[in-house]
Amino acid sequence: MTDTPTQLFIGGAWVDAEDGATLPVDDPATGEVLCHVADAGPKDARLAEEAAVAAQEAWARTAPRARSEILRRAYELILERTDDLAHLMTSEMGKPLAEARGEVAYAAEFFRWFSEEAVRIDGGGGILPDGRNRMLLSRRPVGPCLLITPWNFPLAMGTRKIGPAIAAGCTMILKPAPQTPLSSLALAAILKEAGLPDGVLNVVTTSRAGEVCEPLLRGGRIRKLSFTGSTNVGRLLLAQCADAVVRTSMELGGNAPFIVFDDADLDTAVDGAMLAKMRNMGEACTAANRFFVHRSVVEEFGRRLAERMGALVVGPGTRDGVDVGPLIDAAGRAKVAELVADAVERGAEVLVGGRTPEGPGCFYPPTVLADVDPDSRLMDTEIFGPVAAILTFDDEDEVVRRANDTPWGLVGYVFTEGLDRALRVSERLEVGMVGLNTGLVSNPAAPFGGVKQSGLGREGGRVGIDEFLEYQYLAVPVR
Ligand code: NAP
Repeated sequence: MTDTPTQLFIGGAWVDAEDGATLPVDDPATGEVLCHVADAGPKDARLAEEAAVAAQEAWARTAPRARSEILRRAYELILERTDDLAHLMTSEMGKPLAEARGEVAYAAEFFRWFSEEAVRIDGGGGILPDGRNRMLLSRRPVGPCLLITPWNFPLAMGTRKIGPAIAAGCTMILKPAPQTPLSSLALAAILKEAGLPDGVLNVVTTSRAGEVCEPLLRGGRIRKLSFTGSTNVGRLLLAQCADAVVRTSMELGGNAPFIVFDDADLDTAVDGAMLAKMRNMGEACTAANRFFVHRSVVEEFGRRLAERMGALVVGPGTRDGVDVGPLIDAAGRAKVAELVADAVERGAEVLVGGRTPEGPGCFYPPTVLADVDPDSRLMDTEIFGPVAAILTFDDEDEVVRRANDTPWGLVGYVFTEGLDRALRVSERLEVGMVGLNTGLVSNPAAPFGGVKQSGLGREGGRVGIDEFLEYQYLAVPVR
């Protein structure tokens, strides 16, 4: 912890907030304050904006190969420092060390992927149909960006945005979540060491997100917002972007259905459920929120899932053998407990878990609820905790209709051994991603994103860089 930066990173320098303010970073496993980081205000944000705007032109002209090599070096540095970064992440966010190491590898992979994409930015051209003009098409960086990230994947949500922005030639301001600023600051130090020029990346940690971000979005110099967070905040930011017609990418909330048909391999389905529910203690936008299980297998599935969930070890993420760390904070845990209480009041049966433990830290036990009433609040709220809610269905049309009956559409999971049904149901789900007989879809080489109120645009994959590029078309007479 001692050499982790705690100041703002502006124009390549580490600086305090202009008014000297700081904000505490808590350890969710103990509730104790780990350290304080600089708490930026609007003046600091303006300085970060000036640095990003000043660096933009030269950065856009930097050779793609040079941008690529910075990302590649940063990828290697992240991997070399896996243990330090994982400990930092666990201390500020709570996830078990093994998961934190997994996130470090996942986060680094975005830099490797976009280091490869930086040198493949294509253009185009040709003679137009009338034969009188040529068309020359080039792709240019969209300009200075504001990147806003949540606390649940403190490193990967940053690299998923910073990677393509660097590859495309954009400068940026990163505003991480106040609960988990340390991973972002450590990442900025790594990028500086990897040779990123001053001003290309600026990091403002703040407890005053609205005051810091709104002037940037309305001011006209920031040309792109890439946001990951809740749908409610995303909606507010979209409205703020309207004034200056700022381009947006929105990775918002989910309400993932997890469908188990009567012909599913139940071992595969339970393995998939453990991944789709328990990755990150359920604090993931991709977390399975509603388990629809065919009536003929629902009892067996519930029994097996409860057995697996009940065997998980809950405790501080730094302790050996722990599978489930604390939730992010007291408010997050209280919300999960309220959702469970509401479902139980409406008749759900608790197969395992369901009781908030005594003692320090924001722990909540892995919980399985059966016979959940479809009107329960957790059916249309992201649970964001280790709670699996099981409902019963009878036929395919019914389950597709119920799975789609939500404003969200990030991801869905389908378990069946029938090829035709697998494809048919996947294609009918109103989601951006489907896990077919698997509980994990995230991969830097695949386009991640949702439909409906789960977002706009995609991150990762071949299209991830497009979000940070504009076309320019030159008309040139044929003479
Ligand atoms: P959140 O409350 O929406 O916050 C996300 C980020 O937005 C934080 O940095 C937050 O800072 C900032 N923010 C909040 N209000 C703002 C404002 N008025 N102006 C500018 N920034 C503002 O979400 P969260 O609770 O941190 O994260 C959980 C949510 O993220 C879930 O809904 C989850 O599904 C979603 N998520 C989506 C994806 C995806 O790829 N689709 C991935 C991960 C998470 P403050 O905390 O200081 O307000």
